[in-house]
Amino acid sequence: MRGSLRLFTWFGIPVHLHWSFGLIFLYAFWIGYENNLDMIGTAWLMGFFVALFGCVLLHEYGHALTARRYGIDTHDIILTPIGGIARLEKMPEKPSQEFVVAIAGPMVNVAIALLLVGVSMLVFRAEQWEFFKWFLQQQYSFTEGDETAQVMEETGLQPSGLLFYLPVLVATNIGLVIFNLIPAFPMDGGRIFRSLLAMRWGRVKATRWAAWLGQGIAVLFIVYGLWSNAFTLALVGLFVFTTARSENSMVQLDDFLRKYRAKDLLRPQFTRIYMNDWMQSAAELLQKGLERHFLVFDLSEQLVGMLDEASIVAAMKKNDLGKEVSQYAQKVEIVHLNESLQHIFFLIRNQGNAIVAVGDENGLLGVIDEAGLYNFMRMQSGKSV
Ligand SMILES: [Zn+2]
Repeated sequence: MRGSLRLFTWFGIPVHLHWSFGLIFLYAFWIGYENNLDMIGTAWLMGFFVALFGCVLLHEYGHALTARRYGIDTHDIILTPIGGIARLEKMPEKPSQEFVVAIAGPMVNVAIALLLVGVSMLVFRAEQWEFFKWFLQQQYSFTEGDETAQVMEETGLQPSGLLFYLPVLVATNIGLVIFNLIPAFPMDGGRIFRSLLAMRWGRVKATRWAAWLGQGIAVLFIVYGLWSNAFTLALVGLFVFTTARSENSMVQLDDFLRKYRAKDLLRPQFTRIYMNDWMQSAAELLQKGLERHFLVFDLSEQLVGMLDEASIVAAMKKNDLGKEVSQYAQKVEIVHLNESLQHIFFLIRNQGNAIVAVGDENGLLGVIDEAGLYNFMRMQSGKSV
């Protein structure tokens, strides 16, 4: 991924650090400076941030390795200052599988928190353990800082080193669990919510509702984040809002495309161009007619390629109109009459084929081009979606 540093590959999944991650370290130095920390204190603080992102990384591996069980690969894991992202090839479409993949991440943090509590019970002396428990409670009750000072005075314990960072790390993992379970699609909680809805209503309707709720919560994140100067929260809100929207439209589009086949929109009349025609005649066709892209044939009427508008315009610019079409023709995709619109959309939109040929066992029947596809989608979606 652009703008990121490849750290290492673990379980066959590359881990990337986004450039903006550097901000975290600047932030850590700033906190250290504000609190008059010495070298050792700053080192502990840095260590804490590294441990924190270790926890986030393991959370992402929770998603990635569970998805792998269902045969879904993960392109990579990216760590950013606002959290990690495991870029899964796709989400499982079966609701029960999506549920398991989504909940696996937060479960990793539950496990880490329990493990750290266990370690603390082993390494801390009795009064330290009391302090640990009190400190942890204090993280989640809204008591004032004065009380901290009072307890520290009474117990004579100073929150430093492990005694400070272990409970903080436990609290942070609990915080990660709670935050991720907020049902703001596409956050983990939102995916869990969608998968539960999908078991009843199907994926399309479930996604519409989950995205709607996700966007509502995202707006609250943004408003509250800006109001209380919690800019990270506002950023997360912005991210949730835009991804909820685009994931929803992707699912709705996918559902729409699945309903149609090549035969629903193929155009049987089309102009043929031949390999040994001049580019000049292609340019004239482009200027005169409504067709922008053409199939190319050889003299025995065999389909051998296609010529799109971009190539013709390129030839015009280069004064190449005296050249043969064969110089500019490109490979053509041929699809079956019963091919789903989903695949045709992929060929045209994602792979940049301006025109595809449609045929069956008996030969060529027509074409589908960009304009035809988008026009069809516009007409049909006006009617039925
Ligand atoms: Zn997650």
